[in-house]
Amino acid sequence: MSLKDKVAVVTGGASGIGKEIARHFLAAGAKIAIADLDGQAAEAVAAAFDPTGDRAMGVAMNVTEEDAVTDGIEAIAARFGSIDVLVSNAGIQIVAPVHEMAFADWKKLLAIHLDGAFLTTKACLQHMYAQGRGGSVIYMGSVHSKEASKLKAPYVAAKHGLIGLAKVVAKEGAAHGVRSNVICPGFVRTPLVEKQIPEQAATFGISEEDVVRTIMLKDTVDGEFTTVDDVAQTAVFLAAFPTNALTGQSIVVSHGWFMQ
Ligand code: NAD
Repeated sequence: MSLKDKVAVVTGGASGIGKEIARHFLAAGAKIAIADLDGQAAEAVAAAFDPTGDRAMGVAMNVTEEDAVTDGIEAIAARFGSIDVLVSNAGIQIVAPVHEMAFADWKKLLAIHLDGAFLTTKACLQHMYAQGRGGSVIYMGSVHSKEASKLKAPYVAAKHGLIGLAKVVAKEGAAHGVRSNVICPGFVRTPLVEKQIPEQAATFGISEEDVVRTIMLKDTVDGEFTTVDDVAQTAVFLAAFPTNALTGQSIVVSHGWFMQ
């Protein structure tokens, strides 16, 4: 599927899933902006992907700050001429049982996942509507958009919330040809997950191998991790899909951990 002449913004694009999506988008012909809290890492990834700088740029952006988002999206539109695809992907994980979860941690996680999704969507929709050539908004949900796990209250709440936002954007965006969908991956071995394995081993008093086998991959059909490539291929499909037929949906990519 081709993204030729499309301009795509990937938040959290300096690492893990977002980085792989940016790589696939570039290969599909898009110009890509890697927006990340870590601006140096974003620029380094962009330079590695496209040393000419013609089709990739890195942008320092904290997605929880309205001015940073507005300025960053303006800079991308000015450099590449349009905004056609948004992948709202930046995210963190904080694990604790609800009765011990610090309110500050609850608010921090919701700010990155939900405020970040709202602010980047708002800024990008203004460009997509003004351009009049449609667009695609993709949210990085999770199997935790559908299911719950212990210790992950703010994450599960935020990931469920993204599905609501995506449905509203699908309804409002339709008249402008803007589609909105959610990708819901199972566990992917990125830095975000590598950090959780020892944390959960300590919390549950089990080995790291057992965290992987008896918690993370327990309900998959084959005991396999989802890969960054699996998620990136899905993102290309959603970004390139040509009509409003595929909007307001959430696609689970999880080795069967969750079946719709
Ligand atoms: P990662 O830690 O490898 O990458 C996350 C990126 O987000 C980092 O580059 C980080 O700098 C950036 N980021 C964090 N806070 C930010 C902020 N305030 N503003 C801008 N950028 C910020 O993690 P990942 O596993 O690639 O996760 C990416 C997304 O995929 C997240 O939304 C996560 O919830 C989701 N997800 C991950 C998995 C998994 O198993 N890894 C599964 C389902 C969903």
